[in-house]
Amino acid sequence: MEDFLEQSARLMHQAAEIGKISPDVVELLAAPGRAISFRIPLKMDDGSSRVFDAHRVCHTDALGPTRDGTRISPDLNLDECKALALVMSIKHAAGRIPAGGGKGGIAADPGQLSKHEFERLCRAYIRYLRPSGPDCDVPGADVGTDMQSMAWMLDEYEQITGRHSPAAVNDKPPILGGTPGGYEATGLGVFEVFQAAAEQIGFKLEGARVAIQGFGQVGSVAAQAFHKAGCKVIAIREIDSGVYAEEGLDIDELLKHREKEGSLQNFPDTRPVTNQELFSCDCDVLVPAALQGVITKGVAEKVKARILVEAANAPTTLEADELLLDRGVTIVPDVLANAGSVHLCQMERTQGLSDDYWGAETINEQRRQRLVHSYQQATECAERHQLKSVRLGAWINALKRIEEAVIARGWC
Ligand code: NAD
Repeated sequence: MEDFLEQSARLMHQAAEIGKISPDVVELLAAPGRAISFRIPLKMDDGSSRVFDAHRVCHTDALGPTRDGTRISPDLNLDECKALALVMSIKHAAGRIPAGGGKGGIAADPGQLSKHEFERLCRAYIRYLRPSGPDCDVPGADVGTDMQSMAWMLDEYEQITGRHSPAAVNDKPPILGGTPGGYEATGLGVFEVFQAAAEQIGFKLEGARVAIQGFGQVGSVAAQAFHKAGCKVIAIREIDSGVYAEEGLDIDELLKHREKEGSLQNFPDTRPVTNQELFSCDCDVLVPAALQGVITKGVAEKVKARILVEAANAPTTLEADELLLDRGVTIVPDVLANAGSVHLCQMERTQGLSDDYWGAETINEQRRQRLVHSYQQATECAERHQLKSVRLGAWINALKRIEEAVIARGWC
């Protein structure tokens, strides 16, 4: 099976060919503009020393400063950062955000570090990376980092430079210039883009049967939004447990149950469900919100859903994507469906630069409008090129915007 980097590169070439993007621009985007790897020495609490591998990739800054994604996970490597940075460039450009794609992080297991070790590692990442500030490259949170990690990183940056600079780091707490609603932004966005897709194809939300893989930050917030809109969330699967209820799950009660019991298991009036059963269950809407590459061709053959909403990054292989499109499934692609947090980060940066902070209502409405607009533009592009794939529509739009900026700058 293709890895994430190969799949992203293939998608870019496919979109570039259909969109008639200049081969020079494609060549420029085929590899990141800047990619560095470095090592971070860390004193552990017991006095011993360890060294951690770290990376930062800035894919292209043609449209604006590179942004986002500081991942701390045991297997993180440079190729993964390269692929994710390319996808971030596309996500920003497809959302008409004046930014390029950035991704980086540390190969470490946060669960194996004490709180103090983790804080020292986050701070050291910024010292060794020496980020060049809000006008160049802006780290944000990702897997293994959160608001607190980003607060330490911002503080470290400000200590080094001797200046307050809230726009230098994204996803920080509101008290330091962060944007309220950061936790919910992606999950709510997933629902909002789905809603736009449903409206376009005349799909009725009331009573629609929804199955969701992943009940973390994105999956749980999306599940609440589906439930609130009158859909029946019939199946949810996490890493260690899953539940199915023909008449729909009460999402708030399920969250309380997991809080108390530590898993979804034994939630009243449900039966267990595996990942394979969830993907092939009799639902209208399937939402992978956990892992990459889970909808393979074999899985896709059994999918019964009419709409696939990609809340996770790259959950569908390109072979599966083709098969589902041929069967008439509407696919709401990741670069649009899970872009809620990138729009939020754009607003966070604008606020940080201007010192003018907006209320949650303004932010939520702006996020919704921007997401829906990007989805509509991608579907229009797909129609213009007579494509079934909204994904390709989004990638073509993104590449065209980047191409325009590259040419305006005289790079190609
Ligand atoms: P999370 O860590 O909060 O939740 C992950 C969920 O996936 C958990 O419920 C976990 O149990 C489940 N999971 C893990 N392995 C599984 C398995 N083998 N089978 C079934 N379930 C499994 O992560 P998140 O922030 O909700 O992110 C979910 C996905 O969305 C990831 O692919 C992430 O890259 C992507 N994403 C997240 C954001 C964001 O803002 N958090 C933005 C864009 C994309």
